[in-house]
Amino acid sequence: CGIIGYVGEQPALEVVLSGLRRLEYRGYDSAGVAVVGGGVLRTARRAGRLANLEKVLDESGEQMPGTTGMGHTRWATHGGPTDVNAHPHTDCTGAVAVIHNGIIENFAELRAELEAAGHELSSETDTEVVAHLLEIEIARAAAAGPAASSVSPVSPVSASSSGSGQRVASAHPVTEALRVVCRRLRGAFTLVVLHQDHPGVVVGARRNSPLVVGLGVGEAFLASDVSAFIAHTREALEIGQDQVVEARPDGVTVYDFDGTPVEGRRYHVDWDA
Ligand code: GLU
Repeated sequence: CGIIGYVGEQPALEVVLSGLRRLEYRGYDSAGVAVVGGGVLRTARRAGRLANLEKVLDESGEQMPGTTGMGHTRWATHGGPTDVNAHPHTDCTGAVAVIHNGIIENFAELRAELEAAGHELSSETDTEVVAHLLEIEIARAAAAGPAASSVSPVSPVSASSSGSGQRVASAHPVTEALRVVCRRLRGAFTLVVLHQDHPGVVVGARRNSPLVVGLGVGEAFLASDVSAFIAHTREALEIGQDQVVEARPDGVTVYDFDGTPVEGRRYHVDWDA
């Protein structure tokens, strides 16, 4: 239902929770967050109001240190509004976390395939298959090694990807894995992904469901709606149909589902959210 991803220098949990508060108007039945820090991916999720999640975080006293994170408000379509079905969903190893808006129409066949391969799925959602497919694909991409080409990131400081923009290595293994996995999915999705071994990177993708990037200075946001990040930046980048985006503190790179780098449409949000 509502999605916010963050990478930068601020404590991610604060940014993500305030983003979710800005998205509450959409309506939801559960909420969850994930933060990567110190080589650990921590998640917390609860059915009910955002206040339930915040209470759990307060009472457990669990710190979620880190400057890379994401948050989700869920409107259940597959699996009831329970703690276990709330997002984020993780893979078998707990290294990958996924949040999702929309419906993965072919999740039943993907789930059967994963279970046949020995994966244990813990929720009733259509979403969880994505975490397990990523687990498989990330291992494969890491084994194959990094790609050789390079692409310029889009950021407020390097506004044009054809100009003097800083060169960065081509798609990160997590980005590449998400791109490959998305090609297998049918239906509607906005996905945002974190990996415990990769602080400083948040990856997103979309098909038939909105995803917008907020470009800050030294930070970037991925969201279902600009209202989630408008308190931080008004420089936005629209992500097109069937595209994947890799966000880092110094900018973002966008690819289509074939792996071709594309330029998103930049715009300034000049209305008051
Ligand atoms: N289909 C997913 C679920 O039921 C995502 C629902 C949403 O868009 O919040 O968990």
